[in-house]
Amino acid sequence: QQFMLQHADTVDARQPLEQKARRDLATEKEIQQAIEEQQFELHYQPIISMRGGQTIGFEALLRWRHPRRGLVYPTEFIPLAERTGQIVAIGRWVLGEALNALKAFQMLVGRGSGPRPPLTALAEAAPEPAPRSRTPLFMSINISARQLFELQEIDAIGDAVMASGVDPKQVKLEITESLLVDDPVHAQAAIQLLREYGMRIALDDFGTGYSSLSYLHQFPMDTLKIDQRFVSTMGRDPKSYRIVRAIVGLAEELGMETIAEGIERNNQLAALREIGCDAGQGYLMSRPASFREARRLLQQKQVRW
Ligand code: C2E
Ligand code: MG
Ligand code: MG
Ligand code: MG
Repeated sequence: QQFMLQHADTVDARQPLEQKARRDLATEKEIQQAIEEQQFELHYQPIISMRGGQTIGFEALLRWRHPRRGLVYPTEFIPLAERTGQIVAIGRWVLGEALNALKAFQMLVGRGSGPRPPLTALAEAAPEPAPRSRTPLFMSINISARQLFELQEIDAIGDAVMASGVDPKQVKLEITESLLVDDPVHAQAAIQLLREYGMRIALDDFGTGYSSLSYLHQFPMDTLKIDQRFVSTMGRDPKSYRIVRAIVGLAEELGMETIAEGIERNNQLAALREIGCDAGQGYLMSRPASFREARRLLQQKQVRW
């Protein structure tokens, strides 16, 4: 059962400003409490290789186990947490938790050993049997621009990864275009620094926001995440299909990997394969899963997603 948190960002215009401010303040206090009482949890959505159909990594997605409202989704509280700066503390917790999960997942499948069982849906569609993969699992972690404002905080991220003992190469930080747009000079320094630690950078939601193609060579990035908006229409809209094909081609030219988001249908999966997209995630393969569920998915011999 799911409850929505009445949030100030979705306030309607008739509501007095005073009321909005009061509610924001109340939510801010609740977030503070959530940080202290560890009401947050991470769910993990498998990221699947388009070629082999096996799980190559996970994206960590934040949820708030609210004592009264149930499971609250990030879009309901992250915007406020960004304004109040609380996202920095939340982000530190997310990083630590996601690194622990990555260690556990890697242990389960054997560090760098494969193959993992292909998803049946993919295996059926796959033109040939899944190739043996020797790539260790990675973890994708969403990072707010606000978390990268201070170089000190970036060093804290790097230190946490180094201290965790995971290979920094297997840590992928997802940033959005707003970071690049708002302060390109700082963004460049931030990305540079993160990469010096050995972490990978993914540009999230590519194709939505401002999407200047010049960013792609201005900022050194490893991965382009193709937004769900394109993926959801590419099965039936030839224009979307061509846009995605162009994005994948461009990424390839620039030496970047592509991950498609929000794959819900077999025809989308087939189209992405045809185009040569590297990897994907979506409800078709798996919804974001709790730690235990994700572990079970990895353990299963016959995965039926
Ligand atoms: P995102 O990074 O673009 O994450 C993908 C979103 O798409 C997730 O929503 C995921 O649950 C959803 N999704 C995955 N597959 C499908 C699908 O097949 N169909 C549909 N309709 N949706 C799908 P979620 O978990 O609600 O997260 C929303 C956004 O909140 C994320 O978008 C990200 O921007 C932000 N977020 C999540 N966790 C964190 C975090 O730890 N830190 C920060 N700063 N932001 C986070
Ligand atoms: Mg993301
Ligand atoms: Mg995204
Ligand atoms: Mg998105």
